[in-house]
Amino acid sequence: DATSGELLLESDTARPRVITGDWEVMAADTLEEYERQGGFAALAKCLSQLTPDEVIDEVDHSGLRGRGGGGFPAAQKWRLVGLQSGSKYVIANGDEGDPGAFMDRSIMESAPARVLEGMSIAAFAVGATRGIVYVRNEYPLAVRRMRETVQRMREKGYLGDSILGSRFSLDIDVVEGAGAFICGEETALIQSVMGRRGIPHRRPPFPAESGLWARPTLVNNVETLACVPWILRHGSAQFATFGTEGSKGTKVFSLAGKVRHGGLVEAPMGTTIRELVEYYGRGVPAGRQFKAVQIGGPSGGCLPAALADTPIDYEALRELGAIMGSGGLVVLDDTDCMVDVARYFLEFTQHESCGHCTFCRIGTRKLLDLLEKLCAGKGSRRDLKEIESLAHSVSQGSLCGLGKTAPNPVLTTLKYFKDEYEAHLEGRCPAGRCKALIAYR
Ligand code: SF4
Repeated sequence: DATSGELLLESDTARPRVITGDWEVMAADTLEEYERQGGFAALAKCLSQLTPDEVIDEVDHSGLRGRGGGGFPAAQKWRLVGLQSGSKYVIANGDEGDPGAFMDRSIMESAPARVLEGMSIAAFAVGATRGIVYVRNEYPLAVRRMRETVQRMREKGYLGDSILGSRFSLDIDVVEGAGAFICGEETALIQSVMGRRGIPHRRPPFPAESGLWARPTLVNNVETLACVPWILRHGSAQFATFGTEGSKGTKVFSLAGKVRHGGLVEAPMGTTIRELVEYYGRGVPAGRQFKAVQIGGPSGGCLPAALADTPIDYEALRELGAIMGSGGLVVLDDTDCMVDVARYFLEFTQHESCGHCTFCRIGTRKLLDLLEKLCAGKGSRRDLKEIESLAHSVSQGSLCGLGKTAPNPVLTTLKYFKDEYEAHLEGRCPAGRCKALIAYR
């Protein structure tokens, strides 16, 4: 079951496993087990040997970038929050909502203490005394494990006043989201934590300057935070040996869709799409042909199998018109219609649009109508032109990342699978998927 969160256990021991390395030997809900595996040594080192600036420098040298999708350098965000004065917050973003993505869920369920240790180190580095873990409420086990671990950490002196005998104090609460995809966007997430409707805000001001309760707030994805203890324990130089020039470290990918061995895989940045699909995922089912991947969630992009030798890093994907997103990979085979795939993902983002701005609210609706028309065999060449220009307008005119990237599946399928759109204009669906059209191969 590709959505079960199964961890692919590989025999290739040389493969670096920053996040998942000890999942097989560690009981996720036992804090003592985490301690036995070296847990909290990084926090203890920070509190006893390093200044906040030195911690930020170490993260900076590691090259760690945000794993939630944006790829923004983590240390830059930390430094900006660190420069602000007064009370501050740290938020761990566990509001994973992409179809086909389940790495944040698995991290929170399997290594809750590591996320919380990373969060504590981040709080020490930026001078925050309150933390919030924001978890989507569709992940009840993750919510329970995070809550129980917070409680155990309080009992053992890893949270509270004067942590480990230092002058650093921090407490953390776990807040459940209410199921809105848009609340993964950091400004909407902050609104949600304050009990308001999750609507993104124009930036500046950035949350680093004015976030939760108008105080400076560091928002990092849970996977980003889970990398931090490893970096402090093993050194930034070691972390930076994995990955590519611009994208350091490892990434946890979720493999779903038409792949024989779906699940999670942690691999160095720079691993190719083909290695993920054909080596770790064991390829598509017998008799089928690997056709494409939808990478980066519903607003990522569809890349054809011909580009599968592309090393996965932030810039390489951007050059192809796609984004890394949070690391979800939905594998598609020759039975998938790329026009229908674009329609499916656009339907998701259209449904999840918060409705705040016109281009996203109405533009995505209009785009979806046109794609439905094509899939029904009623599209015209004029519709095709309109789809293309509207997709660019929605990208440019939307306020937040959801609207800006919602047309990506449309734009990438138009770029790489134009022939399938042309076929639909002629009343043919080459994959035989669009039921309103006569199956044709
Ligand atoms: Fe809301 Fe879409 Fe505008 Fe983002 S782009 S604020 S999701 S309407």
